[in-house]
Amino acid sequence: MFRTLRLLFFFIFLAVHGFTAIKIDHVEPPFWWAGMKNANLQLLVNAEGIGKMVPSLNYPGVKLSGYKGSGSNYLFIDLEIGAMAIPGKFVIDFSNAGKIAGSYSYELRKREDFKGKHSGFNTSDAIYLLMPDRFSNGDPKNDNMPGMLEQADRANKDGRHGGDLAGISEHLGYIRDLGFTALWINPLLENNMPKYSYHGYAITDFYKVDPRFGTNEDYVALVKKSQGMGVKVIMDMVFNHCGSYHWWMKNLPQDDWVHQWPEFTRSNYRAGVVTDPYASYFDKKQMLDGWFDVTMPDLNQKNPYLANYLIQNSIWWIEYAGLDGIRMDTYPYSDPDFMAQWMKSVLFEYPDFNIVGEVWMSAAPQVGWWLHNSGMKNGNGQAKSYESHLTNAFDFPLTFALQQALTEQDGWSTGLGRIYDLLSQDFVYSDPSDMVIFADNHDIDRMASKLKTTENVKMAMAFLCTTRGFPLFYYGSEILMKGWADEGHGTIRRDFPGGWAGDTANVFTLTNIEKEKQEVYLYLKTLLNWRKGNKTVQNGILTHYIPENGVYVYFRSLDRSSVMVIMNNSNENKTLATSRFTENLESFSKGIDIINNSKIPDLKSISVSAKSVRIIELSAE
Ligand code: CA
Repeated sequence: MFRTLRLLFFFIFLAVHGFTAIKIDHVEPPFWWAGMKNANLQLLVNAEGIGKMVPSLNYPGVKLSGYKGSGSNYLFIDLEIGAMAIPGKFVIDFSNAGKIAGSYSYELRKREDFKGKHSGFNTSDAIYLLMPDRFSNGDPKNDNMPGMLEQADRANKDGRHGGDLAGISEHLGYIRDLGFTALWINPLLENNMPKYSYHGYAITDFYKVDPRFGTNEDYVALVKKSQGMGVKVIMDMVFNHCGSYHWWMKNLPQDDWVHQWPEFTRSNYRAGVVTDPYASYFDKKQMLDGWFDVTMPDLNQKNPYLANYLIQNSIWWIEYAGLDGIRMDTYPYSDPDFMAQWMKSVLFEYPDFNIVGEVWMSAAPQVGWWLHNSGMKNGNGQAKSYESHLTNAFDFPLTFALQQALTEQDGWSTGLGRIYDLLSQDFVYSDPSDMVIFADNHDIDRMASKLKTTENVKMAMAFLCTTRGFPLFYYGSEILMKGWADEGHGTIRRDFPGGWAGDTANVFTLTNIEKEKQEVYLYLKTLLNWRKGNKTVQNGILTHYIPENGVYVYFRSLDRSSVMVIMNNSNENKTLATSRFTENLESFSKGIDIINNSKIPDLKSISVSAKSVRIIELSAE
C-alpha cells in the first residue's frame, strides 16, 4: 500500500512539474507570453545530462530556431514566438540518441492589461523608498522559512527582522496619505545567503521572491493593490552581481558566466574610470570586472547568453507584475554596452517605461554621461558619443550639495550658493527633469543625522518638493529617524516604529511619536499632497537668482501660473525686498503660502523666518 501511494505521489509530482524521466531543475524564464513585440525567446534549461540532448517541439506559431548545449547540465533553446502563436502550453521534448528522455510543458500566457500599462514615472511623482525587511512585519509566520539559511534575529542590526510584503500591503494607505505616488522597495528576490541576507542585494534566484517576504503571487497582488490606490511600483533590480549562494554558482552555465580572476579581486569602486578619457585599461577592468564583494560574484554581461538572460528577466518581471518602473543597482559597474542594449530592449517592448539608474557619483558630468541623449564623448575620449537610453538617474551630486549647503555658512560658493552653482551646470543633462532628487537613501547617512537640525530637514524637504526633478524620500525621514552609515548599514535601516506587534511607538497611528516628529510628518504630508496637485511645481520652468545674504529665491512657472520659493539659510529672520525678481513677479500682485495657507497681500516685500522656506503660489488678484 505504502509503495503504491509513493508511486502515485511520484507521478503526481511529475505531472505537476511537467516532465517525465529526467529531472529538470530549472527552466528560465519559467513561462512567457504570446504577443510580445520581440518574437525571440531564449530558454535556459538546467538538468543533469541535458547538455547533450536535442530539443524539439510542435506548436503553431512557435519555431525552435536553435539550441546550444553547454557543459553537461545546461541547454539554451532559441524560440521564435510568431504573431500567430496563441496562449497555451506546449511540450518541449528532450531526446538522447533519438529517444525522448524527458519533456517539459512550457506555457505561453495571455498578456494582461494592467491599469497603468507600464506608463513609467515622471515629474508628477514622489517616491517612497523602503527596505522590506525593516518596514513592517505583516506575517510573523514567514520570518523563518524551510530551506532558508539565515534565521530571523531582530536583536541583530545586520540580521533579518521579519518585515514582508504583507506588512507593506497593510500600510499602503499610510504611504498614499503621506502624498506619495510611487513606491520603490529594496530588492525582494531570494537572497538565500547565510548572513546579511536582509538587504536583498545578493540575489540567489532571479525569478523568485524571497519566501520570507512572501510569494511571487503576493508581489503581483501588492503591485495591483498599490496601483489601484494611485501608488506606482518601482522594482529594484541588480544586474552587476548575484549572491555567491546562487544555485548556478555550484556549476556555472558557462565558464565566463561570471568574471574569473586568478585570485579574488574586488572592484576598485571607482565608477569614474568608466567615463574618464584617460583611464587605464587596468583600472577600468578592475572597476567593471572585479567582484563587488566575496559574497557577490561579478556577472559577465559580455557573455551573450547571460545578456539575454538578464534582459528577459527584467521583461518577465515588468510583464508578470505589471511594473511601473525599475531602479537599477550599481549602474556603472555593469558593461556599458550591455546596459544600453538592455535599456533599448526594455523600451522597445514598453516605450513609456522608466528606469532610474544608481550612478553614485558626486560630479554632474559623471552622472550626465550615463543618461539618454547626453551627447557626451564616450569614455575612451573618442568623439563618438555613448547612447545609454537610460531614462532617469538619481541626483547624487545634488544630494551632496544640499547636505553641505544647509550645514555651513553661506558665501560666494558655499551654503545655498552650492546648490545654485550645481543647478547652473544642468546643461550636462539632456533633460534635468529626469533627475530623481533626494537627501538620503538606504546607503548613506540619514538626513535627520546628516542635516543636524529639524529646521534643516524641513528646508531640505521643501527644496526637494519644489526644485526641478522629482523627489524621493527614504522611509523614516518623515519622523526624523536617525543613523550614520559608518556606524554600520543596520543603523540607517532600523525598524519602522509600529511595523512590529508590540512596538510601543507606532507611526501608522501616531502613537508615542514625539511632537517634533509629528510636526515633520505633517510638514512633509502637506508638501507632498500640495505637490501632487500642482502642475506648475511639477513641470514649470525653473528660474533662480544668485543667493544673497543666505537667501535663495527661485520660481517655477507654467503658462500663467507661478510658484515662488524663498529659502532662508541664515540664522536671522529676514524681510526680503523683491524688486530684483520683477521679471518673475510683474504679472502677480499677491500670493498664498502653501504651508500655513496664509495670504501675502503685497509682494513688494516678503518676510521669511531664519532657517526656513516659504513656498508661495502667486496670483494676479
Ligand atoms: Ca514576516
